[in-house]
Amino acid sequence: MSEILVLIDHADGSVDKSSLELLTAAKSAGTPVAVFVGTAEAAQQAAPTLAEYGAERVLVASDPALTEYLVAPKAELLASLVESQQPAAVFVSASPEGREVAGRAAAKTDSGIITDAVDVTPDLVATQSVFAGGYTITGKVVKGTPFIAIKPNSISAEPSQGAGSVEEISFSPSDAAKTARIVSVEEKPASGRPNLTEAAIVVSGGRGTNGDFAPVEAFADAVGAAVGASRAAVDAGWYPHANQVGQTGKTVSPQLYVAAGISGAIQHRAGMQTSKNIVAVNKDDEAPIFELADYGVVGDLFAVLPQATDAVNAR
Ligand code: FAD
Repeated sequence: MSEILVLIDHADGSVDKSSLELLTAAKSAGTPVAVFVGTAEAAQQAAPTLAEYGAERVLVASDPALTEYLVAPKAELLASLVESQQPAAVFVSASPEGREVAGRAAAKTDSGIITDAVDVTPDLVATQSVFAGGYTITGKVVKGTPFIAIKPNSISAEPSQGAGSVEEISFSPSDAAKTARIVSVEEKPASGRPNLTEAAIVVSGGRGTNGDFAPVEAFADAVGAAVGASRAAVDAGWYPHANQVGQTGKTVSPQLYVAAGISGAIQHRAGMQTSKNIVAVNKDDEAPIFELADYGVVGDLFAVLPQATDAVNAR
């Protein structure tokens, strides 16, 4: 079966969930081959997880310049692997970095690219959801090696054992690729909550919180959820932009999404409408969010969420 290169995102060998989703998509279309940029030790740590999700081979590129400089070295790496490995396709996560790396590598290899895909069929037809989910487009790359950037949380990661054999590759980026050096990386202070795009449960607050996210956070902590926010709440300065869900924020697809004090504007839906179960708490029974919700509570979030929190904590 033809191989599909998958660029792995990780933190010191701890593999991002989005990369497991890419491996699952690659498995349905061919033989997944993980491209791991990092130290040999981090690769050894990641290899069992990558194998568990179907990677047959793990190609490890450990030249420090690959991580000391922004995007261009990784784009060179992918372009060189396309040349040497002749894969059927290259999958990357549709993160800002993933899109840029894939775009540059596609240009270098004279290939086509599809970004923000939400699904890929075994014959590499990609689905894109555009205009806040208003239109669905299917497309196929017809030139060169298809590069496909897949949105996190669009595909469920399914374990599927691969051999996971680790192969060190010798690759050093050219001086021309060393254009923008990373000066510092600041880690966000840990909130103790799960990562928004990876959480099984997300509890989001909107303008209805009137700036008081305490009941949203208390309920989120009771159920082990990440906290999200509508753009109205973010624009008002009530919650950080990193927590914004929607067209211009993050896309989430948890098992359970709770929208509290959020009307359900199309741009908000674009970031959460693929959640498996949606619960809305809104005091307006005509709020559009109820059209989308599996369960709705018409009521004041300042009464409903504390009751729900107490009920969960009493268990
Ligand atoms: P509102 O629409 O004002 O709704 C507040 C809701 O809270 C109302 O339904 C009200 O009934 C309810 N409420 C009030 N008080 C309570 C209470 N005490 N208890 C329970 N319910 C209560 N929005 C996003 O969220 N994410 C995006 O990424 C995004 N991107 C955008 C991009 C563009 C280009 C544009 C034009 C807009 C974008 N928006 C986005 C904004 C979007 O159109 C809406 O304005 C926004 O989602 C509204 O946020 P909201 O639901 O919190 O506020």
